[in-house]
Amino acid sequence: MMPYINDSTGKANTNEPTRNTSEWTVQDSAQLYGTSHWGAGYFDVSDNGDAVVTVDFNGSGKQVSVPIIDIVKGMQERGLEMPAVLRIENLLDHRIKQLNEAFARAIKECGYRNHYRGVFPIKVNQQCHVIEEIATFGGSFHHGLEAGSKAELIIALSQLKDHDSFIVCNGYKDAEFIELGLYAKQMGIRTFFVVETPAELPIIIKQSQALGIEPLIGVRIRLSVAVEGHWEQDSGDRSIFGLSTAALLDIVEQLKAANMLHCLQLLHCHIGSQIPNIRNIRSGVLEACRYYSGLVAEGAPMGFLDMGGGLAVDYEGSCSNSTHSMNYQLDEYCVDIVETIRENLDPLNIEHPVIITESGRATVAYSSMLLFNILDVRDHKPTNLPESLPENSHEQLQNLWYVKDNVQVKKLQESYNDCLYYRDEVRELFRRGQINLRERALAENIALAIFEEIALLLPQVERFPSELENLPTLLSDIYYGNFSLFQSLPDIWAIDQTFPIMPIHRLDEEPTREAILADITCDCDGKIDQFTTPDGVRSTLPLHPLRANEEYYLGVFLVGAYQETLGDLHNLFGDTNVVSVRVNLDGSYSFVREFHGDSIADVLSYVEYDPKSMQEQLRRNAEAAVREGKITVTMRQQILKAFRESLQGYTYFER
Ligand SMILES: *Cc1c(COP(=O)(O)O)cnc(C)c1O
Repeated sequence: MMPYINDSTGKANTNEPTRNTSEWTVQDSAQLYGTSHWGAGYFDVSDNGDAVVTVDFNGSGKQVSVPIIDIVKGMQERGLEMPAVLRIENLLDHRIKQLNEAFARAIKECGYRNHYRGVFPIKVNQQCHVIEEIATFGGSFHHGLEAGSKAELIIALSQLKDHDSFIVCNGYKDAEFIELGLYAKQMGIRTFFVVETPAELPIIIKQSQALGIEPLIGVRIRLSVAVEGHWEQDSGDRSIFGLSTAALLDIVEQLKAANMLHCLQLLHCHIGSQIPNIRNIRSGVLEACRYYSGLVAEGAPMGFLDMGGGLAVDYEGSCSNSTHSMNYQLDEYCVDIVETIRENLDPLNIEHPVIITESGRATVAYSSMLLFNILDVRDHKPTNLPESLPENSHEQLQNLWYVKDNVQVKKLQESYNDCLYYRDEVRELFRRGQINLRERALAENIALAIFEEIALLLPQVERFPSELENLPTLLSDIYYGNFSLFQSLPDIWAIDQTFPIMPIHRLDEEPTREAILADITCDCDGKIDQFTTPDGVRSTLPLHPLRANEEYYLGVFLVGAYQETLGDLHNLFGDTNVVSVRVNLDGSYSFVREFHGDSIADVLSYVEYDPKSMQEQLRRNAEAAVREGKITVTMRQQILKAFRESLQGYTYFER
């Protein structure tokens, strides 16, 4: 007999703690996965159980929802297999619009006498299509770009078309970098060089004199406010970026000496990324205002105050100051910045500067999701447990069997202890050669049945024995996903980031399994076993049992920031397929861009292999095998063909 319990409906259940599935609603799924908390109105669950992306068509007052699974089917029809990154262009546009409109509202409300100009930091998502969309759509808001390297400046120069947008250049700048930036300014785009170290300034002065182009200069200061969240250690005095106050004054002196103080127009600070606590932002702005007014007093014209990035994304949907969340809304963020600047500069009669921010994460996170299928599941269920023990079973097996038949709510800890004890005895007997492979397998199965039953009864006990707390996790399934954590979700591995994860279909069914996720890199770090929900962190994710001959798809959401660019080639899993979709007002959607991910030949060439010479090497080996009579000429041809086709194939699991 399998262990069983009577559930609340009085029906005997053989193995799963399911309630009556028909009671399960799509609202239950939305609640369970927290969609309404982290989805920001973009993601939800439809009445027939699909995850949908919702686009708000402003002006028409119309919202259009598209099931993500429909887009997946469309991708497959176009030969774009899983895993894939799906980008929704409309969401990117909407974020830029929201950011700009929120600042415009705050400026109006606070009676602020200047405007806002956003710049998107290219490093957060350098993908050509993302930058093109930001430059094109952002043009109507004069939304510019921030470049931290020469390569990024080249991107900015070629993409920006609107001449009221800014380019802000951060990072270490050599003469070539500065030359390019000066040309950009000469062509009519306001391009600021933000000086990060005093060593940069002489190069800027020299280049601008040589070309006869006056630079726009900014200074990056190191604020002393410490910021909560993941980057706490790097903020404040220990920040590796920015000028100390003494170095700042040195810059002012150098500029005065070169007769260029009038070029100093921008103050820049970036107190950190994903700042969960609004109070840190307010303190940062306050300190920045002190520096700003100090520079005005030194005689610099100023006019631009750049507060950097840091606007957070509520990955867990808890609206709190925990690392993956934020305790404020966009409007509050804007009002806090605008109001703090006004309050601090008004008493000094300093004109209100143009406000710049460099929001990266908050601009692009929502627009991308990673989609993948599940390849396999390893469950920890007993298999083929017999009705009764075979005759003459070893004494310790009989003891285990007895434990199994006598699990009771009142004695869970005792059953657990006994089970572990007898199971270990059996393992010892196996090591000594006193029981065989089949007996050991039987013992492991009985033990699993006992654990499972204990886990089922656990909710009924008043005080949870602490030793048993991990039992549900230990018994959870492993769902093997067709993706590489290192390539597609590097921050999960690198900084314990969490992202919302949920199935994109079957949400009208109760997910009856508890699972952790493993990727296909066969690296023990390639797993996900932390899931944030609005109620806190859980170590397992509820999922549906797989169905025969049917794919099961999961989505990892809010991955548009940093994930696409920081990924690596661990185990030589390459870039995934990428699709950009635009949802139309009539409810249809268009595949605006498709990129096929890396082929095996591509990733091999990244690590300096030459696929052509590899083919030649194989040809020689195969020819030698023909000569030695190991294979026929026909087989030689088959081998070469299979090799060639593999080289052209996708690096991920292909069905
Ligand atoms: C990384 C970075 C940003 C982007 O920060 P987010 O928190 O993603 O908005 C902005 N400015 C600078 C200088 C940066 O280094």
